[in-house]
Amino acid sequence: MKILVVGSVAYDAVETPAGKRESQLGGSASYFSVSASYFTEVGLIGVIGDDFDPADRAMYESHDIDTSGLIEADGKTFRWAGEYMEDINTAVTLDTQLNVFGDFEPELSEAHANAPYLFLANIDPNIQLKVLDSMATRPKMVANDTMNLWIDIANSALTDLISKVDTLLINEEEAKQLTGEEHLPDAANAIFALGPNSTVIKRGEYGVTLFGENFSFAAPAYPLEKVTDPTGAGDSFAGGFMGYLASVDKVDQESLRTAAVVGSTMASFAVEDFGLDRIKNLTHPDIGERFEAFVNLTRFSPLK
Ligand code: AMP
Repeated sequence: MKILVVGSVAYDAVETPAGKRESQLGGSASYFSVSASYFTEVGLIGVIGDDFDPADRAMYESHDIDTSGLIEADGKTFRWAGEYMEDINTAVTLDTQLNVFGDFEPELSEAHANAPYLFLANIDPNIQLKVLDSMATRPKMVANDTMNLWIDIANSALTDLISKVDTLLINEEEAKQLTGEEHLPDAANAIFALGPNSTVIKRGEYGVTLFGENFSFAAPAYPLEKVTDPTGAGDSFAGGFMGYLASVDKVDQESLRTAAVVGSTMASFAVEDFGLDRIKNLTHPDIGERFEAFVNLTRFSPLK
């Protein structure tokens, strides 16, 4: 197993200008693992309730995602409700029900605990810390994501976690909230001061900015004519980003730059349909073609 991910597995209620879904499979770990599965072997750590549809577990398995760490507990699956009505880039949370995540104790097998790449997808930072502390060997690369809720209610666990990771992936607004800095390079420097040596600041339809040791890199978002459901864009980005790094098994400036474009490629698919509907049905030629479109989007002649 190349990548281990822990994060939410959810049923989401979502409303966007394109329509409404009452209960669709989602969660940070779902989007991440399906996206990363196109590049490498993924193991999923999480918890589901007794209302979880077996067809959803079968969908992960059809992507060769190892679900031995996805345990079923008594109670209901995590639920999130959100809308993107005023601003398509910003989810407004209407409701969060942790349900079985409330007292989740992650269980790692030997194969999980020795994974060389670890992604701590958005979930309570105390759970992210437990998984990191359960690793038998320090992975080659540890990255995490988070959100405003955890910055507000679990700030000290989150700061402790961030001090132990290599890369923080975070939305622009949340980066500003976390660091108190308004200007992106200042926010990146404040994140470096907490511990990481790279950070990806996600800016919705404006793309991402990657800050590394003595370099920065910008990748645009793909100019889609229609965004149907932005839910999961960040996690799908992370799946492509980490999936690519794990597949080349290298974390240097060149691979980080390409990984940011692979991540943007996967995010562009995720938003084309509700939930996982588009991203779960991709082919490698689809991904290759969209990646080339990104290359063309930013190709220009050298200055003579
Ligand atoms: P994003 O990639 O940021 O759009 O993530 C969307 C996913 O995050 C949704 O499928 C939600 O189920 C999940 N989510 C929302 N709030 C939380 C939370 N507090 N903890 C973990 N996952 C969450």
